[in-house]
Amino acid sequence: MKHDIIIIGAGPAGLSFAKNIAKTNLNVLLIEKQSKEVIANPPYDGREIALTHLSHKIMNDLEMWQIIPKEKISLIKSAKVMNGNSAYALSFDYEESGEDNLGFMISNNTIRKAAYDSLEGIDNIEILYEKEVSNVGTNSEKGWVDLKSGEHLEARLIIAADSRFSSTRRMMGISTSMLDFGRTCVVCTMSAELPHNKTAYECFHFDRTLAVLPLNDNQVSIVITLGSEDSDELLNMSKEAFAADIEKRIDARLGKMNLTSELFPYPLVATFAKVFHTERFVVIGDSAVGMHPVTAHGFNLGLQGADTLATEIKTALKTGCDWSAQDVLKTYTEKHRHVSRPLYHGTNALVRLYTKTTPAAKFARRALLRLGNHIKPAKKLIMKQLTDTAA
Ligand SMILES: Cc1cc2nc3c(=O)[nH]c(=O)nc-3n(C[C@H](O)[C@H](O)[C@H](O)COP(=O)(O)OP(=O)(O)OC[C@H]3O[C@@H](n4cnc5c(N)ncnc54)[C@H](O)[C@@H]3O)c2cc1C
Repeated sequence: MKHDIIIIGAGPAGLSFAKNIAKTNLNVLLIEKQSKEVIANPPYDGREIALTHLSHKIMNDLEMWQIIPKEKISLIKSAKVMNGNSAYALSFDYEESGEDNLGFMISNNTIRKAAYDSLEGIDNIEILYEKEVSNVGTNSEKGWVDLKSGEHLEARLIIAADSRFSSTRRMMGISTSMLDFGRTCVVCTMSAELPHNKTAYECFHFDRTLAVLPLNDNQVSIVITLGSEDSDELLNMSKEAFAADIEKRIDARLGKMNLTSELFPYPLVATFAKVFHTERFVVIGDSAVGMHPVTAHGFNLGLQGADTLATEIKTALKTGCDWSAQDVLKTYTEKHRHVSRPLYHGTNALVRLYTKTTPAAKFARRALLRLGNHIKPAKKLIMKQLTDTAA
């Protein structure tokens, strides 16, 4: 067999996993449907990814962080969560965390480029571009992938990293719980007149949520979630009307705002694969867990899961065990489900609470923010989640 591992999807999760496993000398083939030009220089897609300290550590270990230009990394020093029109906020500050900051902001296309560039010169990792998969299968000895262009490829392990709508996960008969929120997330960047002081705002208004996340040069990333039926109106607003709407929704905290990118819509569908592995087949990244972006866990979890799988494989290799055996894949599954399941269900519960407009939900939201400020262990737990570097 020419390849040990075939990864379907050269997105951030697939590429990070490949980099993680590169030093083992296993032969890895990535299959990607987009062109080499797009994967090597991904266009800006509006997503500014909030990264935890654990992601920073993993990317540093993978020598991805070091190749990201410093000016492309922004810091979050404090965060405020607000409810409805109330000025009351649940506040988090880096000083309470004992770290220099609460987290980092890097655009998705910058992360993708760093992951791709980090593979330069590595001989045992190969990428096939503009290839789509027509069939995947496995048995006790091997896995195989058929491409629409006619090639038949074999490997000891097949990894699906082909997004939350993974077609190969489906081909392998892995069912997925899927939650269509009927809502759309619209993202863009804006410049602000007043300093944002590296503060992130999460405003839970009654008809929509608005996150304002700090970027360098006093820019901010705007993340709006709203009913999909209202998204066209938002997308068709003039630049001026859009800016005026945002200024009003954040009580002019940042003064005059200016739109500095186009608006990018993403339909909100959360997914959780019923199993993370079968015989010689594993799902990672969004193919395993596709999160609602409101708690900014998606890529953080994907990176952590890819790291868990790579670590299990490397441990098996060191001890001379079969690195593609069921028990290796099972350990990854157990560890990653343990970490991701509470975050997935917790995020979905939060989304439900913050999109309901009943008096009971409004009361619960107010109470939750106040409790969050006063119950120190709860606050500490949230900050630990952001700043801990232990998996
Ligand atoms: C608006 C928004 C904001 C977000 N903010 C955050 C945040 O702040 N923090 C955070 O951690 N996460 C965030 N996320 C989540 C994050 O963007 C995703 O978790 C991450 O991009 C998933 O990476 P992936 O590699 O698993 O999948 P993808 O990025 O979807 O990549 C999949 C790759 O597979 C390829 N592919 C698909 N199908 C096939 C096929 N059949 N054959 C070959 N190739 C295929 C695709 O072309 C693509 O290159 C956000 C997401 C959104 C939408």
